[in-house]
Amino acid sequence: MRQNTTGLLLVVSGPAGVGKGTIDTELMKRNPRIKMSVSATTRAPRPGETDGVHYFFKTPEEFEQMIRDDAFLEYMHVFGMNYYGTPKAYVCEQLQAGNHVILEIDVQGARKVKETFPNAVRIFIAPPSMETLKARLIGRGTETPEQIEKRTRTAFTEMRDMPACDYIIVNDDLETAVNQLEAIVRAEQCSVAHNHEIINEFLGGMEQC
Ligand code: ADP
Ligand code: 5GP
Repeated sequence: MRQNTTGLLLVVSGPAGVGKGTIDTELMKRNPRIKMSVSATTRAPRPGETDGVHYFFKTPEEFEQMIRDDAFLEYMHVFGMNYYGTPKAYVCEQLQAGNHVILEIDVQGARKVKETFPNAVRIFIAPPSMETLKARLIGRGTETPEQIEKRTRTAFTEMRDMPACDYIIVNDDLETAVNQLEAIVRAEQCSVAHNHEIINEFLGGMEQC
């Protein structure tokens, strides 16, 4: 009897600038079984963003056709603005191949995924403080001062999602945070929820008493 080897669906949430991308990238370097899902969006690429790497950039017509084709695990439409969605095919392929897939999506999307995949593991990355969060956003240098103010305000709303998650990692020291995420992956592979095959193998034929 072997430990479960099917992939885990990891939904990583947290406010912009908290370090989600940095932690996920470090984890992928350590564990080649961990893959990042690439979302589709109708927003325009930012400087330095590549189609198929950061996002699959779509026209609204292409995105709406994908909705009709039931190609999304979840998607959201920011009213009057853009669509964002998680293409189903890649996630399913990777999970079936035994790889773990990370989704970095917003709170609404994360909740939807958990409804469809109750075994998905929700991890919230929290900042050591709101001051540190703001300093990291400024330090990243990708947002205007107005965007930084807006994202810091939104962060308070996003933090309300913490109780709905399965784990919280405070990203103070990067190495510690990556170790913690790695430990969660290891623990989840041993969880009852992810090892029903073993249970069925041993108990499947037995009468319930
Ligand atoms: P997110 O993906 O959550 O928006 P990023 O991964 O882009 O955040 O990180 C935002 C900034 O904070 C980046 O400049 C990154 O290098 C920095 N950063 C991430 N984690 C840490 C950490 N533990 N300590 C200090 N700086 C960090
Ligand atoms: P940005 O435009 O800055 O890349 O992303 C804006 C927001 O969209 C972020 O909160 C990000 O997490 C979210 N997002 C990115 N991809 C997806 C997705 O596939 N689904 C959902 N629901 N949200 C997404």
